[in-house]
Amino acid sequence: MRVKILGSGDAFGSGGRFNTCFHLTSGDTRILVDCGASSMVALRHFGVDPDSIDAIVISHFHGDHYGGLPFFLLYSQYESKRKRPLTLAGPPGLRERVTQALKACFGDLRTDWRFPLEFVELHPGMVSRVEGLAVEPIPVEHGTGPTFALRIDDGDKLFAYSSDTTWTDALPAVAQDADLFLVECYAYDEQLPNHCDWRTLSRHLPDLHARRIMLTHMSAPMLARLDEVSIETAYDGLEIGL
Ligand SMILES: [Zn+2]
Ligand SMILES: [Zn+2]
Repeated sequence: MRVKILGSGDAFGSGGRFNTCFHLTSGDTRILVDCGASSMVALRHFGVDPDSIDAIVISHFHGDHYGGLPFFLLYSQYESKRKRPLTLAGPPGLRERVTQALKACFGDLRTDWRFPLEFVELHPGMVSRVEGLAVEPIPVEHGTGPTFALRIDDGDKLFAYSSDTTWTDALPAVAQDADLFLVECYAYDEQLPNHCDWRTLSRHLPDLHARRIMLTHMSAPMLARLDEVSIETAYDGLEIGL
């Protein structure tokens, strides 16, 4: 499995970073994990053909994580005239939330898609198959709406991602035995109800048993203190072989 970080930013473009979007390659399968509002720009910036993507897995329904879908779908329908199937996976209500986002962005679009479009709802306690990959959602704590950390296993390597969350005792289970664990670290030392901070996370590092741990989704104050952080931090364009 190979991972390319297409977006390691927060919701606000801090540090000039794109909204959350990770590109995973396993064999001939290519998926995105999250597709934030800026993700079409990020795909183009890093030379990734949107038509090459087989599936997009969404962690939660915040614009910086799924707000790129209207643009991705519009591009596929009208610009590239996509033929290949596309699978969208995410929390329950995915189809409705995508339809709402499309309507908010582009009005009453015709959605008789010219390509097969499948929606897969993820449910805690269940592992779903998405394009041959095993996707396990684990609920985390991020305020309103369902928010899932994700464990994505191709049978050889395991990619794990915290989604947005404050520290929760679910995170050690998310990280367990992962080849890469991307964990959000929005703040440096400010404890927030919906996001992690470095001070809290660093205390819990001994509980996180992943081969590699990397911070993502950092705010401007956090980015200003990266030299005080003892573990790796993601950045846009970073490629990682697992
Ligand atoms: Zn969020
Ligand atoms: Zn976010």
